[in-house]
Amino acid sequence: MKPEKMIRDITGNTESFNLEHRVFNMFSFLLIIVCLFSGVMNYLLSLNTPAVLAPLLYGMVQIYLYYLSRLKQHYEISVLATLIFAIFIISPTMWFFNGGSYGASQYSIIVLGAVIAAICTRRKRVVFLCCFLLVLSSLVTLEYYFPGTIQYYHSAHARYLDLLVGLNSTTIATYLLFLVYSDNYRSEHEKVLEYSKKLEIMAVTDGLTELYNHSYIFLRLEEEIAKAKRYQRKLSIIMLDIDFFKKLNDTYGHQFGDHVLSRISKCLKDNLRTTDIIGRYGGEEFLIIAPETGSPEAFVAANKLRKLIENIIFFHHVQVTISMGIAEWKNDTSQQLIEKADKCLYMAKKHGRNKIEMLDH
Ligand code: GH3
Ligand code: MG
Ligand code: MG
Repeated sequence: MKPEKMIRDITGNTESFNLEHRVFNMFSFLLIIVCLFSGVMNYLLSLNTPAVLAPLLYGMVQIYLYYLSRLKQHYEISVLATLIFAIFIISPTMWFFNGGSYGASQYSIIVLGAVIAAICTRRKRVVFLCCFLLVLSSLVTLEYYFPGTIQYYHSAHARYLDLLVGLNSTTIATYLLFLVYSDNYRSEHEKVLEYSKKLEIMAVTDGLTELYNHSYIFLRLEEEIAKAKRYQRKLSIIMLDIDFFKKLNDTYGHQFGDHVLSRISKCLKDNLRTTDIIGRYGGEEFLIIAPETGSPEAFVAANKLRKLIENIIFFHHVQVTISMGIAEWKNDTSQQLIEKADKCLYMAKKHGRNKIEMLDH
């Protein structure tokens, strides 16, 4: 099984559980294992009955608390009960039964301190941390003044075995807790990347036609002019306007008008070169930038579009025509080039529509 899958099975996925909740679920799960394992190990070390039964009992309680948090989503109550257990019962018991300051319980105590910081916020964090420090100080003081209260190891063998298990298990626990963090970070990072990609696209796209919007097509025109100037290349633009579009809107409604706009946009996209840049310049006006293209070739492309569009049959058996003005770049600024194309478009309208006009040859 992949570690990410295992982590998500234990803690819950990033969509339904926030980071604190997931860290807590992992901690709760580890606590179950530690408690059950300690009970079995204490039995194998032939410790007394309370030393065997107590961890097993805590393990059972912790299974219920994990179930509440992971499956029933009763997070708050589960956190509260677990921290009270861990601070006031489990830590002192481990200290007393497993050799006090000679034992291996210090390692898990440090992990508990980190978990308090990770899953509690504001006042709860301060309260739990203070309680925990108070309990730890009391344990050290008690051991100093009353060493008899501590159950020391029967043999060096038992101590080193406990040390081995304690050291390894807390290292694995720390590793798993941090895996939850990195898993969350990765998933959040992926989401941010996905959103920023969508935002980038939205910022330059016209929502209705999915072509470039006015500001972006203008920016691209300036870029293409700069390239044409730098590399002494040809560049043409086509200004395209739908004929009698207002009448179409008035007769069949705006929704129908929108449908015509997006259908025509699709036709432009499908039938121009991939290197051509198409944008919605205004309401029913489009600007096509054709790099490496002189006005005669631009005329051929425009005429192809004109014929294709006049043959589209929309709902209600409606057909529309377009008029176009072509301008080839001759050291003009972007504004001058657009003005030239606009003038040609005006001429095309004047000459009866469904026409293409151009100035430069
Ligand atoms: P001409 O042949 O001279 O170009 O006539 P026209 O009616 O197409 O020209 P005009 O510029 O007078 O009308 C453009 C119309 O386009 C007016 C406006 O209601 C419509 N329009 C602009 N944007 C949209 C849009 O996003 N959706 C729809 N449905 N209509 C739009
Ligand atoms: Mg029009
Ligand atoms: Mg117009």
